[in-house]
Amino acid sequence: MNCGSDKVIYMDNNATTRVAPEVVEAMMPFLTDCYGNPSSMHTFGGQVAGAIAEARESIAALIGADPEEIVFTSCGTESDSTAILSALQTYPDNRHVITTRVEHPAVKNLCENLDGLTGHKHRITRLQVEADGMLIPDQYEESLSDDTAIVSVMWANNETGVIFPVEEMAVMARDRGILFHTDAVQAVGKIPINLKDSAIDFLSISGHKLHAPKGVGVLYIRKGTPFIPFINGGHQEHGRRGGTENVASIVGLGRACRLAAEKMEEENVRVRRLRDKLESGLLAKIPRSMLNGHKTSRLPNTANISFEFVEGESILLHMDKYNICASSGSACTSGSLEPSHVLRAMGVPFTAAHGSIRFSLSVYNTEEEVDFVLEKMPEIIANLRAMSPFWND
Ligand SMILES: *Cc1c(COP(=O)(O)O)cnc(C)c1O
Repeated sequence: MNCGSDKVIYMDNNATTRVAPEVVEAMMPFLTDCYGNPSSMHTFGGQVAGAIAEARESIAALIGADPEEIVFTSCGTESDSTAILSALQTYPDNRHVITTRVEHPAVKNLCENLDGLTGHKHRITRLQVEADGMLIPDQYEESLSDDTAIVSVMWANNETGVIFPVEEMAVMARDRGILFHTDAVQAVGKIPINLKDSAIDFLSISGHKLHAPKGVGVLYIRKGTPFIPFINGGHQEHGRRGGTENVASIVGLGRACRLAAEKMEEENVRVRRLRDKLESGLLAKIPRSMLNGHKTSRLPNTANISFEFVEGESILLHMDKYNICASSGSACTSGSLEPSHVLRAMGVPFTAAHGSIRFSLSVYNTEEEVDFVLEKMPEIIANLRAMSPFWND
């Protein structure tokens, strides 16, 4: 199959990323000659176990963890579920969970279904956000309670890129003996993370958000944190996650983490500059457009912009004609356009939430691409507005 990916202007990197060529290269031996089972006694399998150990070290190094604190999973969603369900089993008398109103569905929908999944009744506190997507300062402290089993707060939001102060929040949880999980899927590889002296107990990573393949993830489990596995089976991952390892993808993720570590400092300047150029250009060129999310406490690659009185999905369709890929903050569910729960939680007005577009860049985006998008977007929005009854009113 040919996806024509060379012609695509891909600005949807918070949805998924291109697998880096270096990552593909590192994976190839494990899809061909090196097919041994890492649990086998023979040298042939042992070599594969060595490659997994090396990947584990690269991942640990990127986030300031010890290799033994890294557990491989099948995806970010599995890591999120594993952490939260483990905490609830660890503290069966504590049925309070603190999370936010803007979590990824991996956490949001799990929390909505906890009672059905566990057969117990839970109390869920969903922390509110302000208009800029940041948490309301005092609400968190007030919600920490004697029966809280776990706090799960994302490090960076996938829709707006807004960064939460999870390290400080984790300290406040630890002081009260409460476990702290963070979904860091959007943060790892994009901003520096050092868990060495942090109070974070669990942290989720997904391979395909940082130029490794889909279908591999990591759950960081701080040494000494009580843990009950989600998938029981063989003794893989020191009994913390059964199932024969996804060897090639694990090796790929290790390589991706090394690449991210090498390029992070440079990319934090380069990608941020491209994103800022795109963002300020769109806001300047297109009337009635606005940024969703905090101006500075934000991932360097993400810009979520609303264009009032146009529909996000229509904008995307017109962008698609120019092979520009992005996401909209509204999803067409059962025929009605529902604005995203993130923008709703921020109180973004209806007319703006419907016309929101998320641009998310990566190491592969260029200045020419940004210029092209800046050239095309004003015309796309103006054409759609010309057809909009709301705009003409
Ligand atoms: C993509 C994403 C996930 C889910 O990761 P998968 O590997 O696709 O399961 C979880 N949380 C956030 C913030 C994400 O962006």
